[in-house]
Amino acid sequence: MSHHRPTPPLPGDLAREIARLRESLGERLVILAHHYQHDDVVRHADIVGDSLELARRVPGLAAEHIVFCGVYFMAETAAILAGPGQTVHLPDLEADCIMAAMAPASRVQSVLAHLAAAGRRIVPLTYVNSSAGVKAVVGRHGGAVCTSANAATMLRWALERGDGVLFLPDKNLAWNTADQLGLPAGERLVLDVRGDGRRLDPEAVRRVRLFAWPGMCAIHHRMKVSHVSAARAAHPDALVVVHPECRPEVVALAEASGSTRSIIDYCHRAPAGATIYVGTEIRLVERLAARLAPSKRILPLMASACENMGKITETKLLACLKHLSGGYAVETPPEDAAPAREAVRRMLEACAG
Ligand code: SF4
Repeated sequence: MSHHRPTPPLPGDLAREIARLRESLGERLVILAHHYQHDDVVRHADIVGDSLELARRVPGLAAEHIVFCGVYFMAETAAILAGPGQTVHLPDLEADCIMAAMAPASRVQSVLAHLAAAGRRIVPLTYVNSSAGVKAVVGRHGGAVCTSANAATMLRWALERGDGVLFLPDKNLAWNTADQLGLPAGERLVLDVRGDGRRLDPEAVRRVRLFAWPGMCAIHHRMKVSHVSAARAAHPDALVVVHPECRPEVVALAEASGSTRSIIDYCHRAPAGATIYVGTEIRLVERLAARLAPSKRILPLMASACENMGKITETKLLACLKHLSGGYAVETPPEDAAPAREAVRRMLEACAG
């Protein structure tokens, strides 16, 4: 007796089937993809961008179904910004950002309460890499969201509105942004958030203007000074550009640092013949290298991949497109949606024009 084993569809078949579904859904569907996604996912996207660019595009979309190829907080931010009658879907609901997971909403709420109890008027500023629950806590406390592209503008905005700022969840972005603004070292502190804020040092709490949450992106934090030294030794004329989620000592050694968009622009603007080491997620670095070769040589400062971004595959995208009626939708608790939207709105307003 022979067993019938279905032949798994070939990669080409997957792509054709996705294309067929996209065509039949027409304008009812839009697919967004972050730059850190696999090439065979990116090729199906209507819009490719970094987290700020993708968030900005959502309010202008008319499609009933927004399929977001990225990590959970990005899809959740899109859901906050989507209109009534629109649904945001994430092809793998377990694609979570490890940095966002380092700041649970209840702990943020409790640390803010401890800081307020010490008599400080603290304005919270959350990096977009955070849950809707955290954005809601921040929104309720008069704070805002920021991205790596506007962190300096938003930190200035927050410092003007209180006598201190709680920046979360990324301590590296907090430090790099404070360096950009020239905030003195004695006015900053990486918080000890164990015990939900009960271990805060009362003396520091009185003095500090920038409290940084102790979170980080492991993918960028892995890049060290030794990687920059090795790059310089291999190619003394090379340029180095890194993301501000990297350690401050790595950022200090680079020719430039900035958001994903600004890294892409930096590589495009570099003179022909340049060798550029890029310190960010490997899938973006490889795509840039392929796009700019042979005119420029783009090399990874270190091959570091975001596993969660990599969870979205063509197979899962296809399954998601087949089940738009349910199973992949991202929903924000209604009580969080309004204050979270307010925190995002404050950013968009402060950065308009
Ligand atoms: S690269 Fe880092 S910050 Fe971005 S999604 Fe992955 S873990 Fe989160």
